[in-house]
Amino acid sequence: MWAVELPEIDTGETFDDCAGLIRNTALRERMQAVREAILTHSDNYDDRADLGELHLLMAHEAGVGDVDGVDLVKNYTLRMARKGVPARAVYDALKILPSNNRCPFCGYGPVETLDHILPKRLYPGFSVKPANLVGSCDRCNKLKGESAPTGPADGFFHPYFEDACHVDWLAAEIVPSAPAVALFGVDDAVALDANTIARVKMQFATLELGRLYSDVAADEIVDIVGLLEDIFNVDGRDGVHQHLRRQAHSRRAANRNSWRAALYDALAASDWYCKGGFIGNG
Ligand SMILES: [Zn+2]
Repeated sequence: MWAVELPEIDTGETFDDCAGLIRNTALRERMQAVREAILTHSDNYDDRADLGELHLLMAHEAGVGDVDGVDLVKNYTLRMARKGVPARAVYDALKILPSNNRCPFCGYGPVETLDHILPKRLYPGFSVKPANLVGSCDRCNKLKGESAPTGPADGFFHPYFEDACHVDWLAAEIVPSAPAVALFGVDDAVALDANTIARVKMQFATLELGRLYSDVAADEIVDIVGLLEDIFNVDGRDGVHQHLRRQAHSRRAANRNSWRAALYDALAASDWYCKGGFIGNG
C-alpha cells in the first residue's frame, strides 16, 4: 500500500528481449505475431491502472492470439527472471525501485523478488510488462498468490499507480499484560471512501499484517523498557506519555501507517502503560 515511482521502461523492448531468445522458430514467429496485441493490452492496462480499475481487465489465461498462456509465462520465468539473460537487467532495475529496499505491500519486509500485480498465470499477456512487476518481500509474494481484483472494492493497491498512505489507516491498541501486547487493525473511521477502505482491509487480511506487526512490535516493546523506566523514575507518567507521543509523531512523519507509528500512538494513548504497565516487561 506504499507508493513506488512508476518505472519508465519500455514494454515493447522488454518483450522483444524475451521473445528474441526463443529457439523454436515457429514459436518465436508466433510470439512476434502477437506483439502488437500484447502492446495494445499493455496500453489498456496503463489506462485502467491510472483509474484504479484493473478489475475491468479480462483474465486471459488461455493466452493471446496463437500463443498459449504457458508460453507467455515462460517469457518471464526463462527469459527475464533468469540470471544472465538480457531482460534480467529490467528485472534487477525494477527490484531496486522501492525506497529503502522495503516491500511496498507490507511496508516491513525487504524486497526479495518481483510480484506480478495481475498474476502471470491468469494474465499471461502482462508477464513481462514492467509496470505489472513490483518489488516485494517473499512473504507478501507468497501470501498474495494468485489474488486478482474482482471489483472496485477488491484488489491490491498498485504501488506504481496508487497511494493508500495519504491518511492514517493503521491503528493499534494495547492489551494490558506482562509484557504488553499490541493488536493492529485498520481504522474504520479514517477518511477514505468505502471501496478504498474495503481494499485496505482486504490487503491487510490477505497479507496477515496484523499478526506480522504484532510480532515485530513485541520485540520493540521489550527493547524500550529500560529507557521508559529511566524516564518514569524522573518524570513519572506524564514524562513517559510525552516521550511516547514524540516517538509517534516522528515515526508518523517518516512513514505514515508504519507499524512503529501506530504502536507508539497506542502506547502513548494507554494510561495503564504510561502509569508503569511496562515495568518489569524487559
Ligand atoms: Zn511484504
